[in-house]
Amino acid sequence: MADHEFDLFVIGAGSGGVRASRIAAAHGARVAVAEEYRVGGTCVIRGCVPKKLLVYGAHFAEDLKDAKRFGWQVPDCGFDWPTLRDNVLGEVDRLNGLYAQTLTNNKVEIILERATVSGAHEVTLASGRKVTARYILIATGAHPHVPEFPGSEHGITSNEVFHLDKLPRRILIAGAGYIANEFAGIFNEFGTKVTLINRSDVILRGYEEAIRDRLLQISLTKGIEFRFNSEFESIERQQDGCLKVKTSGHDPVEVDCVLFATGRVPNTTGLGLAEAGVELDDKGAVVVGEDNKSSVDSIYAVGDVTNRVQLTPIAIREGQAFADTVFGNKPHKVDYDNIPNAVFSHPPMAGVGLTESQARNKLGSVAVYTSDFRAMKNVLAGRNERALYKMVCDATTGRVVGLHMIGPDAPEILQAAAVAVKAGLTKDDFDRTVALHPSMAEELVLLK
Ligand code: FAD
Repeated sequence: MADHEFDLFVIGAGSGGVRASRIAAAHGARVAVAEEYRVGGTCVIRGCVPKKLLVYGAHFAEDLKDAKRFGWQVPDCGFDWPTLRDNVLGEVDRLNGLYAQTLTNNKVEIILERATVSGAHEVTLASGRKVTARYILIATGAHPHVPEFPGSEHGITSNEVFHLDKLPRRILIAGAGYIANEFAGIFNEFGTKVTLINRSDVILRGYEEAIRDRLLQISLTKGIEFRFNSEFESIERQQDGCLKVKTSGHDPVEVDCVLFATGRVPNTTGLGLAEAGVELDDKGAVVVGEDNKSSVDSIYAVGDVTNRVQLTPIAIREGQAFADTVFGNKPHKVDYDNIPNAVFSHPPMAGVGLTESQARNKLGSVAVYTSDFRAMKNVLAGRNERALYKMVCDATTGRVVGLHMIGPDAPEILQAAAVAVKAGLTKDDFDRTVALHPSMAEELVLLK
């Protein structure tokens, strides 16, 4: 290994790259990681973490209202966006420092520059410096897709949304995936008039139908407007600064902000990968095998840049598996079955395993159990918002193959229940467990 400057050169210090660097270094490898923006990557800097903090911030709108029904004399409170924004960004700075420190403590050299691949064992930094390594790991993540049409440059993406100078009075959110629905919920709670626009007529494609329908109903009741089967035609900035947006099949709408949440594209443009012989798919993602190895023996890739499952815990597991396999003499692979997922909407959704229609296609005969209830807290608060839990079982064996829910704290409850689904437990196993009363989670062992 000594003929190369490093044993491992990682491009991108996000969820996957940080884990791979740290673990490879702990296995004794000489590791460097290049980062062109901020150590921590999308999740920490402009994804899961600041997003979840905004979700918490937004939910106070409902909590403060409900508190009055629980006897609290809450004055009419105003919301100050700059305070929340700056506190969230402060927390991001703290985490950014901690991630950098962890790498340094593990003797990983951090190079704060853009890096490109210039050979099977060579990386070129923005400064012109060339570095050689026995292995190169591509962990460059993905970036938001912005559709091309006249005036699309006036819109922003999730990269900018955490830095807004002021809260928009009206926002148009494009897309119907989890990021679009989460920001629709956040801005709606802050008092912004939210319109969501989507090319098709469904939200959250791929999630359990009954659960996403429930979110749609609740979102409509909360005042979020949906424009389905509609495409952008143009955005024009008006003299007063607002944006006039024309979309097909609807009247033009005036808003203060357009947020594109229309998918994420792997970061491989200009990276030198194709030139080095690395195969990319039609979306630009690095094609890798189960061992995360690309078509070039010395170049591996993990995380969003491979476009397998774009979630932080998956990027982390892929980074760990890569480092253990290549440097730790502990080969293992990531298991992609039964990955729990959540949408941090208001209320949140969470699920694991097959949806009912996926299970019917795969297994033929399925048994479905549901609980449609109003959380005790919502009853006293006078909040007419019902939770829905749905369990999908293999009708032959009783094994739970899918569990899906929407309601307060659904992600917190689902994470624990996902252990049971992953372990292959049956509906009987759930029913044998005594209910923890009174709780919302007890519905899981009382499903009919
Ligand atoms: P990233 O974390 O994106 O890291 C890649 C890094 O590489 C970046 O820091 C980038 O600057 C750097 N880089 C790129 N090119 C170069 C180069 N040439 N040279 C040097 N550095 C480079 N996932 C969840 O599991 N739960 C959530 O709730 C969730 N919420 C999200 C909310 C939003 C708004 C977004 C955008 C994403 C969210 N995600 C969530 C997805 C999650 O953030 C990603 O799946 C995860 O960060 C992927 O990790 P990664 O290591 O592949 O890439």
